[in-house]
Amino acid sequence: MKFWGRLLPFSLLCALSAVAQQAGSPAPPAQTPAAEPATVQPVSGTSGTSGTAVAPPAAVAPARVPVSVDQVVDAVIEREHALINYLKTRTPVIETYLQNLQPDAKMGALPKEDHYFLSRMDLSDTVERRDYLAKQVSFQRSLMGGFTKLFRIQYQPMGFSWMIFADRSNFDRSHYDFRYMHREFLGEVKCLVFEVTPKKNAGTGLFKGQIWVEDQDYNIVRLNGTYWPRPKNAYYFHMDSWRLNLVPGYWIPSYIYSEEGDFSYGSKDKLAFKAQSRIWGYDVTKNLRDDELTDVKVESVNDVSPTAQDLSPLEAQRAWQQQAEDNVVARLQEAGLLAPPGDVDKVLQTVINNIMITNNLDLPRPVRARVMVTYPLETFSVGNTIIVSRGLIDTLPDEASLAAILSHELAHIVLGHNLGSKYAFTDRMLFSDESTYQNLGFRHNPEEETAADAKAVELLKNSPYAQKLASPGLYLRQLQALAPELPALLTAHLGNSFSDDRGNITRLVALETSAPALDVSKLDQIAALPLGGRIKLDPWQDKVEMIKAAPVSITSARDKMPFEVTPFFPRLTRLTTTTSEQTNGQATPAQK
Ligand SMILES: [Zn+2]
Repeated sequence: MKFWGRLLPFSLLCALSAVAQQAGSPAPPAQTPAAEPATVQPVSGTSGTSGTAVAPPAAVAPARVPVSVDQVVDAVIEREHALINYLKTRTPVIETYLQNLQPDAKMGALPKEDHYFLSRMDLSDTVERRDYLAKQVSFQRSLMGGFTKLFRIQYQPMGFSWMIFADRSNFDRSHYDFRYMHREFLGEVKCLVFEVTPKKNAGTGLFKGQIWVEDQDYNIVRLNGTYWPRPKNAYYFHMDSWRLNLVPGYWIPSYIYSEEGDFSYGSKDKLAFKAQSRIWGYDVTKNLRDDELTDVKVESVNDVSPTAQDLSPLEAQRAWQQQAEDNVVARLQEAGLLAPPGDVDKVLQTVINNIMITNNLDLPRPVRARVMVTYPLETFSVGNTIIVSRGLIDTLPDEASLAAILSHELAHIVLGHNLGSKYAFTDRMLFSDESTYQNLGFRHNPEEETAADAKAVELLKNSPYAQKLASPGLYLRQLQALAPELPALLTAHLGNSFSDDRGNITRLVALETSAPALDVSKLDQIAALPLGGRIKLDPWQDKVEMIKAAPVSITSARDKMPFEVTPFFPRLTRLTTTTSEQTNGQATPAQK
């Protein structure tokens, strides 16, 4: 077995163990009692990051003097306005995935219907959304039409993208009362918690809830609450909004969890939903494409045989395909849809190599892998680059399932089902980010899909995963069980969907039919994971990495939550200071 020595160790993939995982780690219950003095001790005297100053906090050696709660509140308000100002020139992507729920005797609640929204958001004076999906022309109407016979939901101005700030226009003492509650750690970050309530007659739709403020510069790191007072016959969502310290001095809005309704006794007919919103693409630079195109020209000439003067027709064909592939990959990254190359790609690459080596595949051009950062489950290949969506990687129970998913795309490549060489013409890359889905597409016809599935099974049977194909089969069974309820999650936007129009799973059916029966009551049978369990996205640079969460044991069928959204509990850390200071033993002054 000489091949086995060349296989990369599976320990690289330890994150892919078959254990249900939660998004991030749970917040430590380190909650000091609310009994706190009226003065708050750990304070940097001058907040070194006001305005546009971005000096790394490490460079500041503040004199810590006792500061009154009032002074802290002033700093919080100042920092919030600084953030609004700082983000004015940014146009991040906001993605919302929503599941309506129905009560279920065994599982508590199950998804009944889902909705998906993807937009670029302009954070200048008027917050605007530009939608990627043609069908979501009316974000509000499509959502409201779906499930609001009982209550009308008020968007001010547009639902989920609203709660990135507490209050864009009126966050001040004349509109709000601030009450200091207690201190609490969120991850590694010590926070002061304030209750924020609108003053009487200050207006409608003002923020009401709690804010968590980090204890050095007093930036808000988490908002939890709703908007109030509500107009008659209208509701505001409740939301839990998290920020990450991604640039020095600023905490950037990154995750929003929303939830309404419940199935407690007596309220069974009520509609309920839960939704995750993710924001990223803050720092996508507009010049990327120009650079990439220049690179492509140089590289594609260098790529082909260095000894020959001229390209043979076959070489020219391959160079052409390489150029198209590079164009599309660069364009998808620029549009905020593809993560830049990173560690998750290497995990995918390892699995691809394992399949290729054991099948003696030798392709003229290297096979690469990249991650699309969106929820909907999809894979496609652009030339020799296999692209897998974050939602898909998140929900796969183990490495063998990942191998099965990848093998379908690898089969397309092996079978020469090349798509997209028309994108070697660079004018075809000239379109707005929001119209990406209208301008690019990598769908195969049904015959090629069937052929790829057959080839994929053949590749898998020769691979290290040959004895583990029950788990991808179970994954597909679980997907089939929920497919009628999750059409939005199953709608691929660039590749082929896993299901047909009627909600029948069509991908790798042979694996599904040979899998054991799905049994939700078997606690050791984890067919699919919740969304958000594997991939962590850096919203500033769009980088992805594997989440390092300890396995959590499952105690009931309700813990399985296949394909479901859950609340966010990111482990907050400071950008530069914390780790280096702690490991150097240079304690931050006056920290208890
Ligand atoms: Zn396919």
